[in-house]
Amino acid sequence: MYDVAKIREDFPILSRTVYGKPLVYLDNGATTQKPRCVVESITDEYYSVNANVHRGVHFLSQQATHLHEASRETVRRFINARSISEIVFTRGTTESINLVASTFADSQMQEGDEVIVSVMEHHSNIVSWQLQAARKGIRLRVIPMNERGELLMDEYERLFSPRTRLVSVAHVSNVLGTVNPVKRIIGIAHAHGVPVLIDGAQSIPHMKVDVQDLDADFFVFSGHKVYGPTGIGVLYGKEEWLDRLPPYQGGGEMIKNVSFEKTTFNELPFKFEAGTPDYIGSTALAKALDYVSALGMEQIAAYEHELTVYAMRQLREIPGMRLIGEAEQKGGVLSFLVGNIHHFDMGTLLDRLGIAVRTGHHCAEPLMRRLGIEGTVRASLGLYNTKEEIDALVAGIRRVSQMFG
Ligand code: PMP
Repeated sequence: MYDVAKIREDFPILSRTVYGKPLVYLDNGATTQKPRCVVESITDEYYSVNANVHRGVHFLSQQATHLHEASRETVRRFINARSISEIVFTRGTTESINLVASTFADSQMQEGDEVIVSVMEHHSNIVSWQLQAARKGIRLRVIPMNERGELLMDEYERLFSPRTRLVSVAHVSNVLGTVNPVKRIIGIAHAHGVPVLIDGAQSIPHMKVDVQDLDADFFVFSGHKVYGPTGIGVLYGKEEWLDRLPPYQGGGEMIKNVSFEKTTFNELPFKFEAGTPDYIGSTALAKALDYVSALGMEQIAAYEHELTVYAMRQLREIPGMRLIGEAEQKGGVLSFLVGNIHHFDMGTLLDRLGIAVRTGHHCAEPLMRRLGIEGTVRASLGLYNTKEEIDALVAGIRRVSQMFG
């Protein structure tokens, strides 16, 4: 039984009010709220275990190192990677993509080579590549989509050329909610001998991810979007790929031996983890992953699907409603515009009713251009949202619409 009332008790912030109204938090695509066990993990570790990891002979350092490395194993298990060597801790999705873009371009790409992305990418999966494009003369090819917000797979296949070196696409769109057919995308790329990076920022909180089943070469996500802390994220990479890529940053931890003449690099995954890692964050992230695992990713997915269907049905009935993103396979991201009401006005007035949504381009300006709009209002669901909160959203939108006549 999925007991949402009981689950909500684990998230203290959900019982607060804003402007005297109960908080309705529908901005989970931007970041999620944290259960008690995650917050307590942070204070507990600082209060009782804190010491720098990996280098210490003393008790606390060894205990902190044990927690940090056990967290890596938790991440490995969560996404079913083959080995902990394939789990690199980063600051988040953005840093993970930049790490791959920079090291992959440096070591695997020449001028004129191509990277395939999609029209619905987050800026982090566009600009990271553009930086390399400018530096190395690399070209971006873009998978288009249909009006419902589904990638055109035939067009995708046509984008491959002898110069294609990598495909980098979002698992779930942060604007449209589209769940892209990443297994097929990867299969097609592999048939061309091309590796694939999957941006899992918006999938990891909502569905079971198995990187071996997907056969993803790289899979990246952020801790804070999956009920974990800010400032920590993950780069999964197949060992064969991570081995081939050069270090990203230089510093402590990532070396084996250093002399002024020659430095040798540490083994995986430490080769990519220069400096003191966020060992407090990794423990808290593991707590978050344990938390969602205990609820069950399938159960979370089923519950959120039910909420999404419930929300879509009600939103459709609002006069002047334009839903943006109606893919057959769609997660709990509800982007919309109503009549001529500016997304910013809608968001601001909903906020006054205690309803937290996001407005704007959602770091996906090329997608906005494709849709011919400046921005949307976006309600994005999490595992603790309820039908009552959807009702509050719908009532709020109707009220704002009436205000605008
Ligand atoms: N990719 C997608 C699809 C996202 O939704 C986000 C966050 N909005 C990011 C990348 C970037 O994540 P972060 O800011 O945590 O690095």
